[in-house]
Amino acid sequence: MEYEVIIGLEVHAELSTKTKIYCGCTNEYGSDPNTHCCPVCTGMPGALPVLNEKVVEYAVRAGLAMDCDITRESKQDRKNYFYPDTPRAYQISQFDLPLCVGGKVDVNVEGENKTIGITRIHIEDDAGKLVHDAYTGGTLVDLNRAGVPLIEIVSEPDMRSAADAVAYVEKLKGILEYIGVSDCKMQEGSLRADVNLSLRPVGQKEFGTRTETKNLNSFRSIARSIEFEIERQKAVLEAGGVVYQETRRWDDEKGEGFSMRTKENANDYRYFPEPDLLPINLSEEYIENIKKSLPELPESRKARYMSELNLPEYDAGIIISSKALSDFFEEAGKVCGNYKAVSNWIMSDIIRASREYEFEYDNMPYTAEQFGHLIQLIDSGKISGSIAKTVFEEMIKTGNEPEKIVEEKGLAQVSDEGAIKEVVDRVVAANPQSIIDYKAGKDRALGFLVGQCMKEMKGKGNPQILNKLILEILNK
Ligand code: ADP
Ligand code: MG
Ligand code: ZN
Repeated sequence: MEYEVIIGLEVHAELSTKTKIYCGCTNEYGSDPNTHCCPVCTGMPGALPVLNEKVVEYAVRAGLAMDCDITRESKQDRKNYFYPDTPRAYQISQFDLPLCVGGKVDVNVEGENKTIGITRIHIEDDAGKLVHDAYTGGTLVDLNRAGVPLIEIVSEPDMRSAADAVAYVEKLKGILEYIGVSDCKMQEGSLRADVNLSLRPVGQKEFGTRTETKNLNSFRSIARSIEFEIERQKAVLEAGGVVYQETRRWDDEKGEGFSMRTKENANDYRYFPEPDLLPINLSEEYIENIKKSLPELPESRKARYMSELNLPEYDAGIIISSKALSDFFEEAGKVCGNYKAVSNWIMSDIIRASREYEFEYDNMPYTAEQFGHLIQLIDSGKISGSIAKTVFEEMIKTGNEPEKIVEEKGLAQVSDEGAIKEVVDRVVAANPQSIIDYKAGKDRALGFLVGQCMKEMKGKGNPQILNKLILEILNK
């Protein structure tokens, strides 16, 4: 039997506010354990939460950027469960009145455009972290993360493959980075996805039973866990079994998923309105002001790159996929005025170098301004395109200005006709056979002579002038 794959994602993003959601503790990743804690975020008796207004603002920004309706009168709810990293024994989340509802994002999967519905976006607090300590054999708890603000973005079950899911999360990540509400560092857990997946026989209308694989924090593990779960459910169904609604985990090292617990339902959590917090009432003016403050979003940048700068859709798509890369493109383009050249370099050398030298686009070894200067050096004829590659490598290694590198290494292009002529005369005189070959119609002889001259000039001869001077002799 043929099956159709149905996928819906719940994506958690930590918000990059200065302080936590219900107290004044610093919201910062990577500090010593339990150094950003207070009675509120450690759940001491009698400590009361106060909602950080920035959290609401950031969540509304995300909602507006994803075309959601913003709930004017919403509230927060207690989701009750015990877990050792959650000292209050409940999470403060939103149940029936999330801040944002009914949005969408557009994705492009292997050339095909699709729209993924957003069911809701709500705010909630993150849990602490359990550290399984190999030395003592015990488990320790670090509450720095307890009370870090999260938004949970719940999608409609609109995805049909691992590629869809990856494209969707890439898109969300881009939007959240553009609007500056989360750093989206997946390796630090500030963006993580739960994958809900079910199969149904092709042609069947009702969805099958879904499983939920929790806390995937890389694109690779999202894709691999989906492929794994598709095969697993297929095998169960084909053997005549039933898929149980359950919560699963993914072991990235083993490359397999495993069942954690049978799925709880909403009523197991005994949600009720959080009595320690006021309802959230938002005015039209408040929402309008946030709308006005939104920056240009990736889709709009992409359209602009295609229509105004004539970039191919594929190239524009790659550039906007990272805000840092897109910002770099715009700044370097502004410096040199040659956006097309910057784009070509991004598509080839910059992407390659980022892999080879392992740098991120928000932390490149050269600045956009320096890179713009490199393009200027090429466009003004000061250096040739091939010498520019050498200069670029030096920029990566030293972080120096391209002008300085050209000067120090003596890489400037030689355009002085007299100096070039001297070399040309010498090379032609040393290769009489080439003249005979050329006259006999062998055009390759010209290329050979140019190559020999370039070699003598260590790649610095101006190729146009070289060509011209050699042809003058050959055609005499
Ligand atoms: P819960 O908190 O119980 O996981 P949510 O409503 O927060 O429920 O999230 C449910 C997620 O599962 C949504 O992303 C939704 O699109 C997806 N989903 C619901 N039913 C199915 C299904 N049969 N197959 C795949 N995904 C599903
Ligand atoms: Mg869920
Ligand atoms: Zn605190």
